[in-house]
Amino acid sequence: ATFGTLSDRLTETFRNLRTKGKLSAADVDQTVREIRRALLDADVALVVVKEFTAKVRERALGDEVNRALNPAQQVVQIVNEELVGILGGEQRRLQFAKNPPTVIMLAGLQGSGKTTFAGKLAKQLEKDGHTPILVACDLQRPNAVNQLQVVAERAGAAVFAPEPGNGVGDPVRVARDGVEYARRQQHDIVIIDTAGRLGVDAELMKQAADIRKATDPDEVLFVIDAMVGQDAVNTAKAFQEGVDFTGVVLSKLDGDARGGAALSVASVTQRPIIFASTGEGLEDLEPFYPDRMASRILDLGDILTLIEQAQQAFDEEEALAVAEKLANEQFTLEDFLGQLQQMKKMGSMKKMLGMLPGMGQMKQQLEQFDEREIDRTEAIIRSMTPAERRNPKVLNGSRRLRIARGSGMTVTDVNQLVQRFDQAAKMMKTVARGGVPNIPGMGPV
Ligand code: GDP
Repeated sequence: ATFGTLSDRLTETFRNLRTKGKLSAADVDQTVREIRRALLDADVALVVVKEFTAKVRERALGDEVNRALNPAQQVVQIVNEELVGILGGEQRRLQFAKNPPTVIMLAGLQGSGKTTFAGKLAKQLEKDGHTPILVACDLQRPNAVNQLQVVAERAGAAVFAPEPGNGVGDPVRVARDGVEYARRQQHDIVIIDTAGRLGVDAELMKQAADIRKATDPDEVLFVIDAMVGQDAVNTAKAFQEGVDFTGVVLSKLDGDARGGAALSVASVTQRPIIFASTGEGLEDLEPFYPDRMASRILDLGDILTLIEQAQQAFDEEEALAVAEKLANEQFTLEDFLGQLQQMKKMGSMKKMLGMLPGMGQMKQQLEQFDEREIDRTEAIIRSMTPAERRNPKVLNGSRRLRIARGSGMTVTDVNQLVQRFDQAAKMMKTVARGGVPNIPGMGPV
């Protein structure tokens, strides 16, 4: 699947990090090196990789990570933010003309998916109540006009094309006539499909530039096959210089693209990716969301949501205090009670644990985990005196019986809690270090 290898590599990198507490400069460098290698292997352009890793490194060594409760997760968040950044930041929608028709011109190499995209876009626009017309300006390829007609028919859209047999006409003129025709026929959107070549060439660029001049489009969309590797950047640059474009369409994102094109093109051209084309069917078109794409690349489940929740739930100062106590073996049931309350703030434990990557094998245990366990534990601790909470060793038989009665539990429950307190202290140690907690009542993970 798309980004498979890149995702795997990044996940692996972060998995190594996840077990660490404080990050040393060497940890950060190691991580950045791995990210760099993963991106280069995914065919992301070198300039983009350099800039990206430099930013990640600088931020990862900075204060936001140093002060974070969980430095590793903070690094993941930084990588995510920087990924969203190179993918263009905010989502950018198609822009429509104030006075219709809106003219959308497509440019790109032959086989990049322009004609297919024209059909997909027409179909989507129709669904939104528009009346698009496709204009066939690829008069180079013998079958191109016919192909556009077929696609238009499938999309149920109108077509403006030169008469068959007249294939050697002037594409600039066809484009201009097409826009005129659309205006007369009250089509509110014109999609101009232009000729592509297998490689970039001067004549192709000039023709596209002339069509642009003649029709003054509201959008010029550069369609690029996401499966092309390092070439993506050079092709995109050539089109930017030769025609320039207002946005990018990434096609064939359903294939086994390594992701390089997606990550490079927006960054190098500073033009937003507006659509992702994800299949041969006319329905396979999606608006492009940089943030969603970044999450997909990172493939860390909902780890970022989890981080946010954890950040809200854990008061950092308190966590430091707890860590201190753990180190000095001063962690008491009183502190444990405080921690349980923090955990409850994080919301459903089940849901939270489910969001952690690599928890698949724990599904069954998760199913068995009873959230009321926390409530029961809380009830028992609340029935203890402060002295008992500070030092469970004083809990003799009669005290345990009193606590059981007070909390509505059995003496066995109380005994188990005291036993598990040791385990829980270990778990808190893990949480404080940013690991996966070993929940009391769930047995060892
Ligand atoms: P054009 O030469 O730029 O007009 O490219 P076409 O639209 O003719 O597409 C070239 C080939 O890629 C065709 O076989 C399309 O079916 C295929 N294609 C286009 N878009 C996609 C896509 O998003 N996913 C997949 N899998 N194939 C696509």
